[in-house]
Amino acid sequence: MNSISLDPFVRNERENNIASRSDSLAAIFAQRASIHDREGTFPFENFSDLRESGYLKLTVPEAFGGDEASLYEMVLAQERLAKGDGSTALAVGWHISQILQMRIKQSWPRELYIDFCKKVVQEGAMINQFASEPSTGSPSRGGRQQTTAVRTEGGWLLTGRKTFSSLIPVLDQFTVTAYEESEDTLGTFFVRKGPGVSIDETWDTLGMRGTGSHDLVLTDAFVPEDERIDNCEGRGEAAVGSVMSDHGGALLHIPACYIGIAWAARDFAVKFAAGYRPSSLPGPIAELPHIQQKIGEIESELITARTLLYSIADRWDRLPAERATMKPELGLAKTVATNSALRIVDLAMRIVGGSSLSRNLPLERMYRDVRAGLHNPPMDDSVILMLAKRAIMDVNEDNNESIG
Ligand SMILES: Cc1cc2nc3c(=O)[nH]c(=O)nc-3n(C[C@H](O)[C@H](O)[C@H](O)COP(=O)(O)OP(=O)(O)OC[C@H]3O[C@@H](n4cnc5c(N)ncnc54)[C@H](O)[C@@H]3O)c2cc1C
Repeated sequence: MNSISLDPFVRNERENNIASRSDSLAAIFAQRASIHDREGTFPFENFSDLRESGYLKLTVPEAFGGDEASLYEMVLAQERLAKGDGSTALAVGWHISQILQMRIKQSWPRELYIDFCKKVVQEGAMINQFASEPSTGSPSRGGRQQTTAVRTEGGWLLTGRKTFSSLIPVLDQFTVTAYEESEDTLGTFFVRKGPGVSIDETWDTLGMRGTGSHDLVLTDAFVPEDERIDNCEGRGEAAVGSVMSDHGGALLHIPACYIGIAWAARDFAVKFAAGYRPSSLPGPIAELPHIQQKIGEIESELITARTLLYSIADRWDRLPAERATMKPELGLAKTVATNSALRIVDLAMRIVGGSSLSRNLPLERMYRDVRAGLHNPPMDDSVILMLAKRAIMDVNEDNNESIG
């Protein structure tokens, strides 16, 4: 699976080009990953390279100069990028996935949407959504947001603190979820960096250290009337449950990232096994049965996770009318990928042995990075519960039909 021609998930020339670009960028980012991880710094130069290569416009509609990538193509691009640096891939993944989601949902005010898409293409503007909070936790749990949007003349004043604000060092604008008091609803607002907006540099974590996921602090940050983005002609909420919602499809950038990191760990370990010849053996350790067992287990995990990931992305692309029923499978693709990634990196380190602990090798960083996947949405317990509920509902419907 090292060469593109051997990857069964690269199906045509366009996908080949997308994969090749990510491979080239990944090779450069891999050289810088260790230093940013060690120092906890944000890889600004990687984002200049992404901008220059045209990567940032991957999911922008063709009508505005973008590549209008499908979900499948986005997954392909992200997986290969993550082979070089997981942090950069996850961070830019929020940007390109949010643009894909905007394209599907069409919930932004039209002018703001067109203007922003053009800015992405012409200037390399970027975006991310900030919804996590200290006392609300993961927004996927649906708790009431503590960040408030208070009505003022011509718009709203936003106040609150957002945690895990990935990409914030390089963003000039972002979207924020906030509780709109006068309406008793959850709103989404387009916020520009400026008065009332500051960054508290809190991000100092075990893994994904280069994502710049600091706290965002809002103190009466003004958002004008026409830059509230979730109630455009009433479509924002109405879109949920229709083909105009992505039903969590865009979140597949997350499993793509973690499986990409695992793939890189697999490549490293297999190469090591083929080249390492301890003096106690006549040949490389790759000839030993216990090493082959571990390599085989890695292949099994990787092929299974990738097959599920790409098949669900392909289904989502081809069958828009079925998206509403695909949430459990979309979640499963993420759960399988992130848990497989943990097992693959662990096995890779067992193959390499004690030197895998060295900070001079990439494996210990990958080991820490894949751990973060457990805490990106959707969480494992939610996915398992969704699958269980659907199975029980199916059986109940069958029972009712046979009784009826
Ligand atoms: C590298 C990284 C980048 C991220 N980037 C972003 C970003 O750009 N934007 C953004 O908005 N967020 C981002 N996040 C945040 C992420 O989406 C989660 O909000 C965050 O990881 C906290 O999730 P949690 O489950 O640990 O938190 P909590 O929801 O606080 O959960 C803590 C514990 O309580 C349990 N728990 C809490 N509530 C419930 C419940 N209702 N039912 C069952 N169990 C519950 C959880 O299972 C967990 O064990 C990022 C996270 C990471 C790790």
